[in-house]
Amino acid sequence: MAAPSLDVVVALAKRRGFVFQSSEIYGGLNGCWDFGPMGVELLRNLKEAWWQAMTSREDIEGLDAAILMHPRVWEASGHVEQFTDPMIDNKVSKARYRADTLIEDFIAGLRSKGKHQEADYWEERLRAASQPQDYYRIILDAQIPDPVSGTREWTEVRNFNLMFKTFIGPVEDDSSVVYLRPETAQGIYVNFLNVLQTSRQKIPFGIAQIGKAFRNEVNTRNFLFRTREFEQMEMQYFVKPGTEQEWFDYWLQERYRWYLQLGIPAERLRIRPHEKLAHYAAAAVDIEFLFPFGWGELEGIHSRTDFDLRRHMEFSGKRLEYTDPITRERYIPYVVETSAGATRSFLAFLCNAYDEELIPEERGTTEKRIVLRLHPFLAPVKVAVFPLVNREGMPERARKLYEELRRHFRAAYDDSGAIGRRYRRHDEIGTPFCVTIDGQTLQDDTVTIRDRDSMEQVRVHISNVVQYIRDHLVLQPV
Ligand code: ATP
Repeated sequence: MAAPSLDVVVALAKRRGFVFQSSEIYGGLNGCWDFGPMGVELLRNLKEAWWQAMTSREDIEGLDAAILMHPRVWEASGHVEQFTDPMIDNKVSKARYRADTLIEDFIAGLRSKGKHQEADYWEERLRAASQPQDYYRIILDAQIPDPVSGTREWTEVRNFNLMFKTFIGPVEDDSSVVYLRPETAQGIYVNFLNVLQTSRQKIPFGIAQIGKAFRNEVNTRNFLFRTREFEQMEMQYFVKPGTEQEWFDYWLQERYRWYLQLGIPAERLRIRPHEKLAHYAAAAVDIEFLFPFGWGELEGIHSRTDFDLRRHMEFSGKRLEYTDPITRERYIPYVVETSAGATRSFLAFLCNAYDEELIPEERGTTEKRIVLRLHPFLAPVKVAVFPLVNREGMPERARKLYEELRRHFRAAYDDSGAIGRRYRRHDEIGTPFCVTIDGQTLQDDTVTIRDRDSMEQVRVHISNVVQYIRDHLVLQPV
């Protein structure tokens, strides 16, 4: 089918226990979401796929750094000064916007009306904008109205720092300010020497980390796409200066392949070079996914030179250098980073997997089904076991098989309702295999395994079920 709307994905996520609004009984908290019983499994599987891809390699070590870090870290990284978004308020509706997003939406509106020349002009101006007053001028010159009230009564544009601030210890003053990390990468840079010395890695090598990050986004939107609390999967690869382009190309291909391997088709992925490069960046591209609301970044691949280590060297006074064990050459390594969103890719995998189709007759039902075509590795539940009927010894056999399967995989047992209804329930959460115990099982110890996507059934001996499922969970190279 064509890509689903975001609304149907959100509805399924809620209905089947993937994602709930944070603090829902209190009306929710903007930009924060809770992962329910199915969601937490999917998210863990996704992170596991990334962790395996990274740390099963000889040249990458793992790390789990604290969320709260020394405040100087964020001065060195440039976040205190520069991690800002331009913000504007409408005086009538009191609605608050990111000024650049307001302009982008206005341009998209022009394009949808076929006014491409006008759109090109404002896009050019937007590309050149960097200071609050640049955005302000565009909003005035283009006479952009507030989408809520329709009025053009705007406040000035101000820069707004996205880091959440809090205090360490009982006294709330300037000297006790700490930040919730807005990215996991800095935990890696500040541990560069520790990991180098304890792991005995040699350059080139990488450090991988998965963890929560927090950004006080001006506007959250599109469900899990832009939230205030989210999870990142980042890897910093330390290389010899001069080899960074080669590693950049390598990691871009590796990361692109990872999404393909987990079932996202090439036509829903694209690689997009950054239009504006940060002053320290040698190269930067995004891997984007075609979400129901358009293309959006999943991951950034950045060639960051020695900017980060050099800054931390300046601010900490520690020598963050590497000595080549053979040539004795001493240098500050360059960094190629792969920076992905775990919760954002969760949304991509969910949107990509969602499908609706009219099903042919399947055991007496003719109806539409919703099916999550998740890669079996990602699926929250790998196998469901059903007794065909609740008598003649079938439930006992089914429970026995379920107990065995449960030792190997996330499994479910379901004996309520018609068999078609049970299939539908498991289709909706993406369970790749449903095993049914029927009359024949009692005679010859065979069961049927029904494939979620093709709905075809194969008969296998009960003792082969574990191996059959295990074989299908393997991530095939692409
Ligand atoms: P954007 O331009 O979308 O704000 P960014 O370029 O600031 O993203 P990075 O700082 O490169 O993003 O962060 C790396 C990854 O972290 C992004 O590709 C995305 O997957 C994820 N990410 C960043 N901000 C958010 C957010 N507010 N909510 C969910 N995921 C996020």
